[in-house]
Amino acid sequence: MKKEPKKTFFDRDHLLHKIESEHQIWDVLIIGGGATGLGVALDASSRGLSTVLFEQSDFAKGTSSRSTKLAHGGVRYLAQGNIKLVFEALRERGLMLKNAPHLVSPLSFIIPSYRWWEKYFYGLGLQIYDWMAQKFRMGNTSLLRRDTLLKQMGNLNPKKLNGGVQYYDGQFDDARLAVNLAQTSIEQGGVLINYMKVNQLIKDAKGKVTGVEVTNVETGKTYSVQAKVVINATGVFVDDILKMDNPGANTLLKVSQGIHLVLPQSFLKSEHALMIPATSDGRVLFAVPWHGYLLVGTTDTPLDRHQLEPKPLKEEINFILETLKDYLKEVPTEKDVLSVFVGLRPLVLPENKEVGTKEISRDHKLKISASQLITITGGKWTTYRKMAEDTVDQAITIGDLSTGPCQTKALKIHGYSNAPAEDEAMSFYGSDAKGIAQLKIENPDLDYQLHPDFSFTAAEVIWAVRYEMARTVDDILARRLRILFLNARAAMKLAPVVANIMAEEMDKDKDWTDGQIRDFQSIAKNYLVDPTLGEVLASGRLQKVE
Ligand SMILES: Cc1cc2nc3c(=O)[nH]c(=O)nc-3n(C[C@H](O)[C@H](O)[C@H](O)COP(=O)(O)OP(=O)(O)OC[C@H]3O[C@@H](n4cnc5c(N)ncnc54)[C@H](O)[C@@H]3O)c2cc1C
Repeated sequence: MKKEPKKTFFDRDHLLHKIESEHQIWDVLIIGGGATGLGVALDASSRGLSTVLFEQSDFAKGTSSRSTKLAHGGVRYLAQGNIKLVFEALRERGLMLKNAPHLVSPLSFIIPSYRWWEKYFYGLGLQIYDWMAQKFRMGNTSLLRRDTLLKQMGNLNPKKLNGGVQYYDGQFDDARLAVNLAQTSIEQGGVLINYMKVNQLIKDAKGKVTGVEVTNVETGKTYSVQAKVVINATGVFVDDILKMDNPGANTLLKVSQGIHLVLPQSFLKSEHALMIPATSDGRVLFAVPWHGYLLVGTTDTPLDRHQLEPKPLKEEINFILETLKDYLKEVPTEKDVLSVFVGLRPLVLPENKEVGTKEISRDHKLKISASQLITITGGKWTTYRKMAEDTVDQAITIGDLSTGPCQTKALKIHGYSNAPAEDEAMSFYGSDAKGIAQLKIENPDLDYQLHPDFSFTAAEVIWAVRYEMARTVDDILARRLRILFLNARAAMKLAPVVANIMAEEMDKDKDWTDGQIRDFQSIAKNYLVDPTLGEVLASGRLQKVE
């Protein structure tokens, strides 16, 4: 293994040095490194604005790694009549595919029809959806006969099935896109640093926000950083920053949680995704093939309190398993669940606060406080680019910044590659796959597989530390390689292996390694449905965990 890690563009110490040495007033300072904040950083840096972003944990540690991973217009929003949101999201879906084809791809969805009218009703709605996508259409909606449908989705419940509808939407890898957005912004001159928590806003004598106090979570060192415009992009935590600004500020959000169960893909016996258009609580439920597994979700449970590492509720798990019973022949039970992950929705409260969370609009909200703090929240992953454009346009006015128009409509995202990947499992690295292959050639001792169910090698761990700002075992297993999201027990088993590889690369001691393993096991427990079960392999076999 190489002892001397190379200093790279995406090197955290190098970026931190810029904060320590350049006592400049930044044009734009962003709090929060999820889809929203990263999008804003990319928009601002690519317009030539001096840009800094602080994330208290890892990039996409919050909701932005825990979505259903659909780049979509939102069939449900069409049914709700939110035409503007659907038009906008369909256009953004197309731009995501154009600019990050290594991470975004079209996917075929099937809606089974169990009542005579369903296929005609949904078929018509989805033809309108296709038409609304205009030049960004991903495929053509068609009606399917019963026998064709049963061939395409082998485990579908045939009782009373009269056919179905096939339509196309987009699918992506959310945490990988987040890392690639951060890399692209840094390549455009931005300074984006993870594990930096903003504790306080700095104001001038007139009460205008002029910067933040931010602590390096790894060292405890605190910095005062000045900026012409400060942007609050902290997802479900925006109210905390708004209260830092003004303790009497009204609450902006209602937070709701959504869970996903991850199952062996054999539960669908299909490469198509299943869309259940009306669950018993009036929502839609997706069962989507992803990285060789099946993601099923989601739920919508209003919360009164929330945390960065949320936990699934027993009722939510039961709800998903119960719903599947009506649609599948062979039905999964709790012991088949390989991982369960939870995301928190930042839903902007309407004036009428009595409305249920599933009726709250998914539109984004831009708020300017009296202190000129800009808050951007709500929306969807799919619309991150447009949200960023609107926010930076606003920042230019507030900060009287001189720069040109938005550049991101045609800006290729780091890793951009149109060529089909030689190795399917490496496709999400896009053009970076070549660099990983080269690392293995230079260091053949890194070319060993970490786990029999995953093709990743030690080289991908080193790559994530050197070139993707991974700092912890959780960063690697949850958001760089996604194993925690796919099979929590496999990830727990891998934690010591990954901690040791990282420790050698980062020159860390045994205390660090032990602490990392402990921290990861305590996070990963939240991804298990039943901690007493053995390790369930993707093949469906149950294996005892030592
Ligand atoms: C269950 C579920 C499924 C979804 N599925 C989809 C989907 O399929 N497609 C789609 O388009 N959208 C989907 N969404 C919506 C989408 O995921 C969110 O809109 C988006 O991820 C929100 O991103 P964000 O950056 O605003 O928030 P977050 O991702 O939560 O990021 C906020 C960040 O701010 C950081 N932060 C907070 N406080 C501080 C501080 N003091 N200092 C520094 N940093 C701080 C946090 O650590 C966090 O990383 C889904 C949402 C949920 C909940």
